[in-house]
Amino acid sequence: MPELPEVETIRIGLEKYLVGHKITKVEVRWRKSLPENENKLVEGYVKKIRRFGKVLSIDLDNGYSAVIHIKLTGQLIYKGSNLPNPPSLSKKIVGGVPGKHTHVTFFLDKGGKLYFNDVRKFGWIKVVKTKDVEEIPFIKKLGPEPFVSAQGKPSGKLTPGLFKQILSKSSRPVKIVLMDQEKIGGVGNIYANDALWLARILPTWSAKSLSPKEQSKLYDAILNVLKEGLKRGGASELSYVTPDGNEGSYQEHFLAYGRKDEICSRCRKAKFKKITLGGRGTYFCPYCQK
Ligand SMILES: [Zn+2]
Repeated sequence: MPELPEVETIRIGLEKYLVGHKITKVEVRWRKSLPENENKLVEGYVKKIRRFGKVLSIDLDNGYSAVIHIKLTGQLIYKGSNLPNPPSLSKKIVGGVPGKHTHVTFFLDKGGKLYFNDVRKFGWIKVVKTKDVEEIPFIKKLGPEPFVSAQGKPSGKLTPGLFKQILSKSSRPVKIVLMDQEKIGGVGNIYANDALWLARILPTWSAKSLSPKEQSKLYDAILNVLKEGLKRGGASELSYVTPDGNEGSYQEHFLAYGRKDEICSRCRKAKFKKITLGGRGTYFCPYCQK
C-alpha cells in the first residue's frame, strides 16, 4: 500500500496542478468509491491539499473537502493544458485514463481533469465540511507522523521522545508497532522493513525490549528511509503512480524489502529471509539484524 513518501509525492503533484482551479463537475461511475453527494464540491476552488498519514484532503474555498484514501491500488491522475508535455503514461495505469477502472472524474476549469482509478476498489473518497476533516475516524485516530507535511495535523509530529514512549508501552513485535497507523502515521510495510534493517533490529523483537540506543537508531532509520523514498518519488509497487502518470524509483533502492534469498549488501555473510508477520511479508538479514 502506498505509504507516507508515495502519498506525499501525490500531494505535491496535486498541489501543483489543482490549486487555484475550480471544480466544475464531478462524475461518479462507481458509487462505493464516492458515496456522498459529490455536488457539494462543484463550484469550489481548490485552496490547498493536505495529507494526514496515507490520506489526502483536497480543500475547497466553499467550505467542503474531498478526503481521499487510495488504499492498495487507487490512482489520482491529472490531465490538462497546464501539463505541458504529458509523459507517456505509466504501464501501471491499467485500462487507460479514463478507462474501465476510472470510478470518479473531477472536471476542472480550463479543461483540466483529475481521474480516480482503482482496480481493486478498496479506495474511498469522502465529501465532508473542511472543518470536520480532522474528525473523520481514520484521521482522528492517526498517530503522530515522522514528518508532518506542511499542511498536515499541526500537533502530529513524532518526536524521538514520543517514539520511545510508544515502543516502551508495547510488547508486540516492533515491526507491527511501526505499521500501526494509530501509533505512528504513514509507515507501512516497505519502509518498516527497510528501517529495521538499517537500524540492525529484528522485526520480531518485542517493541519494549529495545534499548534506548536501539530506539534512537530506529527513529533515525525511519526518518532516513522515508526521506529517501520521498526523494525518489516513492516506490512504484502495485499501482502507485504520481498525478502526472510517472512512477517513483525507490523500488530500485529497497534495502531489505522484497530481497528474499539475496545476499545482504551490508554484511555479505547471509541471505535475506522472508517470514510473515501480522500477515505481511517481512524481510531481514539473519546475520546482521541482531
Ligand atoms: Zn546482513
